[in-house]
This record gives sequence, C-alpha cells and structure tokens, in this order.
Amino acid sequence: MQIVPGVTLIEGVGANSNCYLVECDCGVNVLVDTGMADNFLRVKEHVKRLDIIVNTHCHYDHVGANVLLKKEFGAKLLAHEADAGYIACGDGEYTCSSMFGKVLPAVEVDGVLREGDVVFGTTGLEVVHTPGHTRGGICLYDRKRKILFSGDTLFAEGGIGRTDLPSGDLGALRASILKISLLDVDILLPGHGECVLNGAGKYIKDMCFR
Ligand SMILES: [Zn+2]
Ligand SMILES: [Zn+2]
Repeated sequence: MQIVPGVTLIEGVGANSNCYLVECDCGVNVLVDTGMADNFLRVKEHVKRLDIIVNTHCHYDHVGANVLLKKEFGAKLLAHEADAGYIACGDGEYTCSSMFGKVLPAVEVDGVLREGDVVFGTTGLEVVHTPGHTRGGICLYDRKRKILFSGDTLFAEGGIGRTDLPSGDLGALRASILKISLLDVDILLPGHGECVLNGAGKYIKDMCFR
C-alpha cells in the first residue's frame, strides 16, 4: 500500500513487522526492516531494486529476512551501533529469535548508525536514537515530508514498545517518546499495526502526558 509517493507499506502478516520501501528521487531505494525469514517472498514482490536495508532494532521479527534480502539484492545493511553486534552474530537472546523458535543466521552489518546520521543523501531519513524497547532502537525521520518510522518505540493504537526483553528500559523509552514528540511529525509509520496518516504529532504529544 502506497502511503505517499515513494513510500510503500509492506504490511506485517502474523508476527512479522511492517516493512517500508522508501524510493528516493535521487534513485536510492531503502527498506526499513525486513520481517522474519518467511517474509522474504512478500517483500521481494514489492521490490525491484534495493540499495540499503535499515533495521529499526535487533528483534527477529524486524531482521529475520536480512540475509535473504541482502543476498537477493546486494543491499547494504545498517543498524544502530548498540544493536548491530547482536544482528551480526545472530544472538538468539538479544534478537529474541529463540523466543520465536527460530535461528537467526549471522550477517554482515555494513555500517553502524548513530544519533543524527542520515541514511542517504543530505536530507533523506535522519536517525533518531530512541532506546527503551532495545538499547539500539532508532526511529527514522523524513524531515521534509514530516514522516516518522517509529519501529517498536510506539504504535498507532496507543501502545508503546514492551520493555521486558533484553536491554529494555521503561524510563529510557519514556524519554525517547518525549524526544520524538518534539519533532514535527504528520505521518507515523510504526513497526506493527496501523499507520497514522495525518496529525500524528498531536497524537505523539498526547501519549507523553498519559
Ligand atoms: Zn516488533
Ligand atoms: Zn521489537
């Protein structure tokens, strides 16, 4: 489903995360999260070319198809420095792959992200470090179009990411939500469930004062 021109939602079926294909005017195609291994074919249907894969955090339901998609398209894989190591070695505990009853294969992470990095070009997808759900969780911000890809930091139905998994931290998550409430956001594209297609900023601010 097209969210806006150049941004396509590949809806997460079952426990799979939502994945988002961002096709930039500059010719760079970015995929935000990959879902579990069984999500590979679903993503492949939507993607003709892929340059960059970004993981919002290390959990298996977001990173499980990394290896298959990297191999298929030769894309570079990026993740926040605090989660990248777990993704690279396929850590069963921190990625929760063992909780899903799966084995995450090791994969090469081609670059680590930090607060304020830009995924491509000079303005495309800014990295906002939002620890709490995991230590290396990030949101990606399209400042021009006021779009926030929120991973599992917060959801459209009023939920916030769970903090009872390895490296989860409720205090850090609250601070992260406060941080993103200061951004000018119109469209919220979370890691699971529905999207907020307009007025998302007010929605995020409201969540801070609950
Ligand atoms: Zn998730
Ligand atoms: Zn998660």
